[in-house]
Amino acid sequence: MARNIIKKSPAQIEAMKEAGRISAKVLREVGALVKPGVSTLELDRFVETMIRLEGGIPAFKGYGGFPGSICASLNEQIVHGIPSADVILKEGDIISIDTGAIVDGWVGDNAWTFAVGKISAEKQRLLDITEKCMWAGLDAARPGNRMGDIGSAVQEIAEAAGYGVVRDYVGHGIGRDMHEEPNVPNYGRRHTGLKLEVGMVLAIEPMINMGTFRTKQMSDGWLVCTQDGLPSAHFEKTVAITEDGPLILTTEPDHRRPV
Ligand code: MG
Repeated sequence: MARNIIKKSPAQIEAMKEAGRISAKVLREVGALVKPGVSTLELDRFVETMIRLEGGIPAFKGYGGFPGSICASLNEQIVHGIPSADVILKEGDIISIDTGAIVDGWVGDNAWTFAVGKISAEKQRLLDITEKCMWAGLDAARPGNRMGDIGSAVQEIAEAAGYGVVRDYVGHGIGRDMHEEPNVPNYGRRHTGLKLEVGMVLAIEPMINMGTFRTKQMSDGWLVCTQDGLPSAHFEKTVAITEDGPLILTTEPDHRRPV
């Protein structure tokens, strides 16, 4: 199988940190604005302004024709929701915000699912488990492991909790392009698949559904929902595989946490 994986040098990984820092900062700050009554377009405007103020370019805006600087996906929406003045957050919703910045041609990509006000215990559990899936996937991003070690780490946690792991959308390599090879599935078998090597930079992004893993493409050509209408969560970080293990790039120095 032909592969075109663009590995990054230590200097290039260092250069990717600024795009990652801005991506993480805007995601954290937009999360603080999530509350009942706010529209997803307001969140998008905030993110675009802030990325530019920080010296970056919104990575999503115009990507494949996407109109926003964030993807905003509520409740049963899995990914790729277009921000809109007509979509107003309400108490009890969950909202997945996916965003990224480009700096010096390098791309950062990250996502988080936020609670709008007080949410049900069922939704909170979905968020907690999906975040846990992401950390487990990131932890498996080590030289000597294989791609199946990332996927199985995510899948085992999600399925043990009774959830569905989205198959139709996966994580990806990232660098000067937002989507590079290889694909990073959130399912797989341990010790199988592509060998992970130092210099690979990946966006690991579990999309976990409360019910079926099956998805449904909506008519705007972007939005993807769960087939059964049950909620979905999405957490993502960009990580570099280094000799010392996973190095998360979409993070702020003050907020860095070891994997
Ligand atoms: Mg991504």
